[in-house]
Amino acid sequence: QPAIRIAIVGHGNLGRGVESAIANNPDMTIAGIYTRRDPAQLQPLTAGVSVYPMDALAGHKDRIDVLILCGGSKDDLPRQSPELAAQFNLVDSFDTHARIPAHFAAVDAAAQAGKTTALISAGWDPGMFSINRVLGEALLPDGATYTFWGKGLSQGHSDAIRRVSGVAGGVQYTIPVPEAVDQVRSGVRPQLTTREKHRRDCFVVLAPGADAEAVRQAIVTMPHYFDEYDTTVQFISAEQLAREHGAMPHGGFVIRSGNTSAANKQVIEYRLQLDSNPEFTSSVLVAYARAVHRMAQAGQFGCKTVFDVAPGLLSPQSPAELRERLL
Ligand code: NDP
Repeated sequence: QPAIRIAIVGHGNLGRGVESAIANNPDMTIAGIYTRRDPAQLQPLTAGVSVYPMDALAGHKDRIDVLILCGGSKDDLPRQSPELAAQFNLVDSFDTHARIPAHFAAVDAAAQAGKTTALISAGWDPGMFSINRVLGEALLPDGATYTFWGKGLSQGHSDAIRRVSGVAGGVQYTIPVPEAVDQVRSGVRPQLTTREKHRRDCFVVLAPGADAEAVRQAIVTMPHYFDEYDTTVQFISAEQLAREHGAMPHGGFVIRSGNTSAANKQVIEYRLQLDSNPEFTSSVLVAYARAVHRMAQAGQFGCKTVFDVAPGLLSPQSPAELRERLL
């Protein structure tokens, strides 16, 4: 079997994560990294991999099996995924939940017309958590599903802190409230408010001359981001921020609790505990790229999501090997 040739489109956290992930998957190889920036300025982690400008991509069609799009969900993927699905098989990690139906429609139109296979919204949430929500509902129709995130660094909330006047730097961690998690695990199906489910802890470096109390107030009362949560703000030095808060941990749980009869409660739990959110997300994208390659070879064109992919297609092993070892 020739190796599956993957092109990495965009070289941020996920782009670098895809490089690491492919190093762990011998049936795949990197065909190239494509960027909107000056290729000479990028440093691939993998020896011998070339970096090309985006406009070289169309001319490299016969060297590439699947694109892994590593752009941002806000501005990059809504444009890049439909445009590139017209020509290439691809995987993206689009994570703006409310806009997934519109993104699906745009990518599906392009992929149907171009006879390509384009899988959107892979990763862990959306992605692995979505699969576990579907399984929970299907297996325990009489039940309730709970998703908890963290402990983890939230990129969006960290950006929001950094925009507050008087803030020179900062990060935000989302933390599940332990009492809420315990209640959910016990199977009592509690009704939980936003505040009861998660807490937000902020670590902030003040700009010179800034008023700490004013900054704290501006953060904890920020609409949508912090006002509905119990939020703590701790002031630290720039050195401490760099030393102790440079990693991108994340994770969480999806829990379904339900009853199969009046007497019997059942609880299903899926848990992720990630040292690096981007490296894990990229590992998921790479496994889905393998599935996309096989689905394209089988003529299954159009836009797909994780719900449309049989688990065996994610594995490099054959169906017979999987039946023997893992069933
Ligand atoms: P980054 O901001 O690190 O990278 C996004 C893009 O920005 C890159 O592809 C790159 O494109 C460009 N870029 C990166 N670094 C620089 C720089 N220094 N200067 C200018 N441009 C730069 O985002 P992430 O990789 O962390 O995340 C990408 C998306 O993945 C997120 O928007 C998020 O929505 C999604 N995601 C989804 C998850 C899921 O579970 N489904 C989990 C985690 C993330 P180029 O090389 O072309 O310039």
